[in-house]
Amino acid sequence: MGKVTGFKEFSRRTHGYAPVEERITHCSEFLVRLTQAEVETQSARCMDCGIPFCHASCPLGNVIPDFNDEVYHHHWEDALRILLSTNNFPEYTGRICPAPCESGCVLGLIQPMVAIKSIELAIIEHAFEQGWMAPNPPTVRTGKRVAVIGSGPAGLAVADQLNKVGHQVTVYERSDRIGGLLMYGIPNFKLDKTIVQRRVDLMAAEGVIFRTKFHVGLDWPAQGLRQNYDALVVATGSTIPRDLPIPGRDVKGVYFAMDFLTQNTRRVLGDTFPEDDLIDAKGKHVLVIGGGDTGSDCVGTSIRQGAIQVTQIELLPRPPADRTEETAWPAHPGPKRFSTSSSQEEGCVREWSISTKAFLEDAEGRLTGVQCVRLAWDDPAKFKYHEIPGSEFVIQADLVFLAMGFLHTDPQGLLQQLGLEKDARGNLKASEADYQTSQVGVFAAGDARRGQSLVVWAISEGRECARAVDRYLRGGVPSRLESKDKSFCQFA
Ligand SMILES: Cc1cc2nc3c(=O)[nH]c(=O)nc-3n(C[C@H](O)[C@H](O)[C@H](O)COP(=O)(O)OP(=O)(O)OC[C@H]3O[C@@H](n4cnc5c(N)ncnc54)[C@H](O)[C@@H]3O)c2cc1C
Ligand code: SF4
Repeated sequence: MGKVTGFKEFSRRTHGYAPVEERITHCSEFLVRLTQAEVETQSARCMDCGIPFCHASCPLGNVIPDFNDEVYHHHWEDALRILLSTNNFPEYTGRICPAPCESGCVLGLIQPMVAIKSIELAIIEHAFEQGWMAPNPPTVRTGKRVAVIGSGPAGLAVADQLNKVGHQVTVYERSDRIGGLLMYGIPNFKLDKTIVQRRVDLMAAEGVIFRTKFHVGLDWPAQGLRQNYDALVVATGSTIPRDLPIPGRDVKGVYFAMDFLTQNTRRVLGDTFPEDDLIDAKGKHVLVIGGGDTGSDCVGTSIRQGAIQVTQIELLPRPPADRTEETAWPAHPGPKRFSTSSSQEEGCVREWSISTKAFLEDAEGRLTGVQCVRLAWDDPAKFKYHEIPGSEFVIQADLVFLAMGFLHTDPQGLLQQLGLEKDARGNLKASEADYQTSQVGVFAAGDARRGQSLVVWAISEGRECARAVDRYLRGGVPSRLESKDKSFCQFA
């Protein structure tokens, strides 16, 4: 334990954000990191609990009290070693993870919790700055070849782990850039794309092969890959969006959130589009349907593009500000507790318990608004509600983004060609015991298997899946990824 009385002496401080009026003028990250000395002070607040609930609350099992202790004692390289032993990409989670570890922090019962996420980010960024994150390719190759389909955090984590134990990994991505939702989905202002690319370059230098614009199952038959590789991992994400089939759905001006977010990131990266294809919020009244993170990203992006007004509506009732019995410590409350994202803080009208009835258009076929009605919730747990009579109203909108979640992975092509079974929700059927699909030698990980989730879960699934693949490739012999020997996880 760093400092026995640290939690009594120091207040919680986390990395901050640039002021709203400044950050909405650009699409770059606006995170203001703590200084090294400030991070060391924050790590002193850790109580090194006998049962560290932070550790259990992290899907990756990050060894949080140990790296907090090393940071406090100025042993940043040791802290990095501990962090990398469980998390392949702390530079992503340190920026955009909702931090279930902090929700579970024991100190949070009596005081503001330890600033774990800020400490994690500081460790990895310090490591890059110091040049400690140099390529460290494996010294021995096994001769086994693995194809990973999909380059989101799950696919990247599988690839990183299997490469580290010497298998030759090729990652196939249908898009033109690597990263999945880290690249196209999460906006640049939350996760700068140079940060995504920095890790991809590092992995490439360590021997992972990346193939972009390669749509397995459409451009290339999946069976061909199956024959050429010793194992296949399907990490294709949960990419089919939930639609809103109400009258007027075809009016121009109604888009899926991902079409807007992807195009905006491409524009930020310098890609150009014909005028007619542009989805631009400048000078528009924007309505975002869906109160979650994807909707929130549409809010921040619309504000940066110069929207006149942004409204975000949600079908569910407004969640309580405090924990309830259902979200009692150490649970991570997620959307069941009221919170305000940095994008919502930048200026948006938020409304709950609203259902949409129709998209409205003018005589020229242009979107003008959305007919809505207010709801009264009889039993939110059982999803029981009724419309309030006479509460119909119209929200003015010339641009609507549908951000109501994702259903499952894309069933076309790949899944059909490999004959992979799906579960009741349409996700890929593969158990947590061995991540193997209905076809021997074909594995699944990430949102494609568990459904729409979080980056930290995708990395966790990728690591667990890699362990299962390695065991399979070694003919059932325990994997090195299973042992306590983490020497292959070390940096150069
Ligand atoms: C807008 C948005 C914002 C989010 N913000 C956050 C956040 O702030 N924090 C957080 O923790 N989580 C966030 N999430 C969730 C998080 O991004 C996902 O849970 C995570 O990226 C899932 O990782 P994955 O690797 O399973 O899939 P994905 O990241 O979806 O990657 C799947 C990849 O597979 C590719 N692919 C699909 N089919 C094929 C094929 N046949 N051939 C080749 N390639 C294929 C796709 O093009 C894609 O690149 C957000 C999600 C969205 C949509
Ligand atoms: S639960 Fe909080 S105080 Fe306890 S070890 Fe983890 S970070 Fe430290």
